[in-house]
Order: sequence, then structure tokens, then C-alpha cells
Amino acid sequence: MVLLEAGKLPHKNYVNIWNLPELRGIAITDDRVTLGALTTYTEIQNHEVLREEFPMLCQAAKETGGIAIQNRGTIGGNILNASPAADSPPALLAYDAELELVSKTGSRRIRYANFHTGYKQMDIRADELLQSIGLPRTKNALMHYYRKVGTRKAQAISKVCFAAVGRVNIGRIESARLALGSVAPIPLRCVNTEAVINDRAPDGEAIAAAKATLTREIAPIDDFRSTRDYRLRVSLNLLEDFLRRLETL
Ligand SMILES: Cc1cc2nc3c(=O)[nH]c(=O)nc-3n(C[C@H](O)[C@H](O)[C@H](O)COP(=O)(O)OP(=O)(O)OC[C@H]3O[C@@H](n4cnc5c(N)ncnc54)[C@H](O)[C@@H]3O)c2cc1C
Repeated sequence: MVLLEAGKLPHKNYVNIWNLPELRGIAITDDRVTLGALTTYTEIQNHEVLREEFPMLCQAAKETGGIAIQNRGTIGGNILNASPAADSPPALLAYDAELELVSKTGSRRIRYANFHTGYKQMDIRADELLQSIGLPRTKNALMHYYRKVGTRKAQAISKVCFAAVGRVNIGRIESARLALGSVAPIPLRCVNTEAVINDRAPDGEAIAAAKATLTREIAPIDDFRSTRDYRLRVSLNLLEDFLRRLETL
């Protein structure tokens, strides 16, 4: 609607998918939570299992736009809008989400980490719709760390968005997964930084190595919302804060 009103989309007929029941609902099984693509931010925030097991997604939903956007905006729309500054993708990446795409000829699944291929470029065909987003449930207790840094606390687009999970087990970091928004052309899962910190004690040396790797892994830019230097500094500070807070759970 924003693009249409700004004159950036042709005024022709569009298909409204809001009433497709196949794209709605939140289903729970033993090993997975599946969100229909049309799940709204309000529905995410109100869901007990999501609040308990995927708190970063609920926090992202709570910090997205205002209440009107949260009641109407969908998680599927947030993914397909493909903004590198969107708030739910870093949480979805850190939770290792999987997407299910459907078309007349069938359906296929793809890891969300492989979905964004370049700025506003995605692995989706013109005849496909996003049907659902799958989140693997884990029995391991993890620390969840999500920070949206914007100009204001509400109604602001992220300058940096940081989502990470992990824990310390017998003195070593394990299951650490982290992802950032607004620091690259796509929402970025930072696998190189993860490789540096996993299976390592969360000490000063690990923090320094992780920060050096993250500096190489992200590619923040200057734009009207922030600067490259500020985004880099904030990303590194958040990484350090996450690592210092990691605890044995
Ligand atoms: C005032 C305002 C504030 C906002 N604040 C934020 C914010 O703080 N954080 C943030 O991340 N975003 C924000 N947004 C962006 C937007 O609201 C969200 O991205 C929202 O989730 C989009 O969902 P939607 O259902 O409205 O998608 P739409 O805008 O309807 O769709 C977005 C794109 O995705 C495609 N699409 C949607 N669903 C599917 C599907 N199931 N399968 C295939 N293609 C699909 C559409 O064709 C379109 O190209 C804001 C927008 C506004 C207008």
C-alpha cells in the first residue's frame, strides 16, 4: 500500500490473499511450530508457546510499527517485503526457520538462511506463495538475546537489529546462532562469527576474535537512517554484550 500510494506500483488489479485459510493459523507438533504466512504480529505476541519458546520473535513483533501495523501486518509479508532492515528476519534466522512455498504444481521447503539471495532478491518463483514458516523446537534451554536499535522506541525502522541464541555448557559456548539486520543487503545469519565462538570459553579472547570476525562478515553502509561507523560500533557492542551475558542454563 505504501508503494502504491507513493506511485511506485502501477494502479492495476492486485490479488488479496488475506482470506486464504490455507495460509493462516499456528500449528504445534512435538518438534516444530508452524506459522501460517498470514499470521499477524498481534497473533504472534499473544501465542503462549511462541512467548515461551521463541521470545525473540514476540519481541520483534512487539517492536514492529505501531498497533495498527501489528494487527494487520503479517510475518509472511515481512519476509517477502525483503527489507534488510526488517525486524523479524534476524529472529527467524537465529531460530533456523524453514519456509514452505506452494504453487499449483506442489510445495517445497527451503531453509530461511538460504532464501534471501541479494538485495530484494529471493529464492521464490513468480507462481509461488509463501505458505508457512516452520520453527524447530529445542529441548535445550537457550539464552535469547534480541535488540532493535532505532531512533525511537516505537514506530522506527532499525539502524541495527541483533538476534542471538546460545548457552554455556561445561564452560564452553554451544548452540550459538546469531543474525543481524540493517548491516548488509540482506538479513544476515553470521555463520563465520558463530564458528569462532561455538565450543569456546566465553572469555576476553573469544570476544575479541568474534568481534574481528563480525567486522569482516557484515557490510554496513551510510544511508539516511544511520552511518556505517555507527552500525558497525553498535553491532560489535551488542555482540560483546550477548557474549558477556551468556550463562550456564
Ligand atoms: C507505518 C509502517 C511502519 C512499519 N514498521 C515496520 C517495522 O518497525 N519493522 C518492520 O520490519 N517492518 C515495518 N513495516 C513494514 C511492513 O508493515 C511489514 O513488513 C509487514 O509485515 C508487511 O506485511 P503485509 O502483510 O502488510 O505485507 P504486504 O505489504 O502486503 O506484502 C509485502 C510483499 O510481500 C508479498 N507477500 C506478502 N505475503 C506473501 C505470501 N504469503 N507469499 C508471497 N508473497 C507475499 C507481497 O506481494 C508484497 O510484495 C512498516 C510498515 C508501515 C507502513
